[in-house]
Amino acid sequence: MNEADPHHVVIVGAGFGGLAVAHGLAGAGVRITIVDQRNHHLFQPLLYQVGTATLATSEIAWPIRHLVRARKEITTLLGVVTGVDIETHRVLLEDGAEVSFDTLVIATGARHAYFGHDEWEPYAPGLKTLEDATSIRRRILLSLERAERETDPARRAALLTFVIVGGGPTGVELAGAIAELTHQNLPDEFRQIDTRKARVLLIEAGPRILPSFTPDLSTYAHVALERLGVEIQLGLPVSDCNAQGVMVGSRPVAADVVLWAAGVRASPAAAWLGLPADNAGRVKVEPDLSVPGHPDIFVIGDTATVNAWKGKPVPGIAPAAKQQGLHTARNIRRRLRGHHDSQPFHYKHSGNLATIGKRSAVIDFGWIKIRGWLAWWIWGLAHIYFLIGLRNRLAVALSWLWIYTTGNRSACLITQVDHRPKARQPPA
Ligand SMILES: Cc1cc2nc3c(=O)[nH]c(=O)nc-3n(C[C@H](O)[C@H](O)[C@H](O)COP(=O)(O)OP(=O)(O)OC[C@H]3O[C@@H](n4cnc5c(N)ncnc54)[C@H](O)[C@@H]3O)c2cc1C
Repeated sequence: MNEADPHHVVIVGAGFGGLAVAHGLAGAGVRITIVDQRNHHLFQPLLYQVGTATLATSEIAWPIRHLVRARKEITTLLGVVTGVDIETHRVLLEDGAEVSFDTLVIATGARHAYFGHDEWEPYAPGLKTLEDATSIRRRILLSLERAERETDPARRAALLTFVIVGGGPTGVELAGAIAELTHQNLPDEFRQIDTRKARVLLIEAGPRILPSFTPDLSTYAHVALERLGVEIQLGLPVSDCNAQGVMVGSRPVAADVVLWAAGVRASPAAAWLGLPADNAGRVKVEPDLSVPGHPDIFVIGDTATVNAWKGKPVPGIAPAAKQQGLHTARNIRRRLRGHHDSQPFHYKHSGNLATIGKRSAVIDFGWIKIRGWLAWWIWGLAHIYFLIGLRNRLAVALSWLWIYTTGNRSACLITQVDHRPKARQPPA
């Protein structure tokens, strides 16, 4: 290896996958550049808790620069990648800058998808970034504030209706947390409205919530959510989202807060590379996670699809992105040692977890299924363990303990509120 001009690895995206690559390359003698459009790494599994006023933003996000400060071979760049010049080995940034690479790893994740109805996004925001979470928190809390001042019963009912579209883990977690917030934590704080009467409606087009879990765990979660006061509507898709609320099949539901947890679309890496994608926009990668015809370009995590889970596609979850990142780092090291063959990736699944409010969860480890409070404790400990740094682990544990024992949510803050009156737009 040339010490004066070491091999340059560019990692686009400092999420779970990208950071794992950087971690796996420690001591490999390479120069690394991390490019991300945000200055922080985000622990997305707890994002819904920022959206529902349980945790503060700084408890689940860390400046990337700070995380890699001890690694002198890593340079961190804040920038939006908009393309890749495969021939000249350059990453293209939105502001016209370029970063050349010897090896490129793209780990740019996914965003929510509206099944061809992007016009629904302003009415039904999804949850992916810190901005999404604080905007959702603002919508929920503002709706309650407006309901407190509203005299028209029909408008007040719409302001007190919270619709969540999509019954996967994120939808279930959001619905449970909003039900607890409105039904258990806030009733004492309002005078004109009874927040216990807030309607929390979870809409799932399929026959059951949590479809990636076994039917018995889905049924358990269904009953546990209903016990929290969540109304569940199964078997009918949302056919429109607009300023008045949603259409479920042909039935309108008036609601000021509609949240989208129904689908994801990969970042446009396939278009950057001029490669075919699957119907969720993911790049179809080789068994070693490199892209066809370009062994020095890897795509990993939520942006890639590969049948490396006993012949099935690898799921879009954090452990899968981390495993792919570490595997890619191992393959890069092998090549630097002169091996020309790359090892195929094999995903190891540890289990599915979803929480239903602050006293219940479901866990499917395959060999054992756990539900109820024990599952919630395991879920909580696992999430605290996977947070980065002692300070955040303590801060999150303390926030949960505080809310658990007092019911007080200190993060009920409305920021960036716009008091100017807005014209309500007609339905799309
Ligand atoms: C609300 C929510 C809850 C979730 N809950 C769980 C859970 O409980 N358990 C679980 O295992 N998984 C969960 N997931 C899924 C998990 O977070 C993802 O599978 C995982 O983050 C994928 O890792 P990644 O590295 O592929 O992408 P990400 O972690 O999303 O990282 C992508 C990075 O790329 C950057 N980026 C994107 N585009 C560009 C660009 N053009 N230029 C520069 N940088 C860019 C982003 O800023 C980001 O930092 C959840 C996801 C969400 C949204």
